[in-house]
Amino acid sequence: PNVANTQPTGNINVVIRVRPLQERDNATNNKNVLKILDEHTIIFDPKEDDNLFFYHGVQQKSRDFIKRANRNLNFTFDHVFGDNSTNEIVFESSTKCLIETLMKGYNCSVFVYGATGAGKTHTMLGSEQDPGITLLTLKELFIQKEALQHEREFEIGITYLEVYNEMVQDLLNPGIPLLLREDEKYGLLVVGIKMHRIEQYNTLFELLEQGNRNRTQHPTDANTESSRSHAVFQVYLRMKVKATNEISMSKLSMIDLAGSERGASTGYSGARFTEGANINKSLLALGNCINSLADGRRHVPYRDSKLTRLLKDSLGGNCLTVMIANISPSSFNYEDTYNTLKYAMRAKKI
Ligand code: ADP
Ligand code: MG
Repeated sequence: PNVANTQPTGNINVVIRVRPLQERDNATNNKNVLKILDEHTIIFDPKEDDNLFFYHGVQQKSRDFIKRANRNLNFTFDHVFGDNSTNEIVFESSTKCLIETLMKGYNCSVFVYGATGAGKTHTMLGSEQDPGITLLTLKELFIQKEALQHEREFEIGITYLEVYNEMVQDLLNPGIPLLLREDEKYGLLVVGIKMHRIEQYNTLFELLEQGNRNRTQHPTDANTESSRSHAVFQVYLRMKVKATNEISMSKLSMIDLAGSERGASTGYSGARFTEGANINKSLLALGNCINSLADGRRHVPYRDSKLTRLLKDSLGGNCLTVMIANISPSSFNYEDTYNTLKYAMRAKKI
């Protein structure tokens, strides 16, 4: 009842995660174009006198005038995670606090944004040895649920779907594309999606794995592991206060977005080109919604794509949102990194 006033409206936390340089980056003799100043500040394309061009102990020649402009741009975020941060560390300072909000009955959403290969899936899903933030966040949900069990009854259900080519597919029960329907009482419905009841969090990894195996993936010229779809994992929480029988519901959405790189630069055509256009449509619509919310505009164009329709009740208003923007430190990904930082800056202003 009175909690409604304690929640800031339209709150978004934007964090940056830098992935480590990789063999591949090294092979192309690329350089680190990022410098982390502190927990909140990152410099993109710093001035050369910063001794930054030691990579694996070897000083790099800086001759690619085209790729580096020494823009020396400072960006400030709620948090900047360096390449030595584990999923556990990222979780602790980004999504852990969402569970308390969820328990108060507010919807929360988490986006991982970034170009293909920047580390989105590593952040979201991770591996069995190094679980990603989805599993860690759900584990926290179960911890807080146990702590409240004496006063509340809980029901937890999950769905896992993908938006691919502006079509919605149930990843846990693949079949024909699912339709979205606006319902007066329940809001947006994904017609026919299968909800899985979860009693323990340790059954989750397998469900996530199973869902991920059903994701639509295509090799592209840019990256064979490229993912052209948005994966949307949603947790439905229903709580009943035992003393009063008062019921509340909230929802956590965790979205592994499709690569944000421009279709044009990956050089595909035909069928792949249509995919690119549709992915841009959903990412563009998400950007437009974020911009509208950031500007405090009354009209937010949720209806412009499947992704934003799905997330209408989880963006803005009383919802708490975390955006994790993943970037590569390599000059090979110079433009993508720059674009991601700009997109993330814009989101921060909500
Ligand atoms: P995306 O989902 O954004 O396309 P991935 O998560 O698949 O990118 O990451 C690309 C590659 O980089 C994978 O091999 C992944 O294991 C590795 N990687 C990404 N981020 C990290 C990290 N923080 N630490 C170690 N390896 C990482
Ligand atoms: Mg991925």
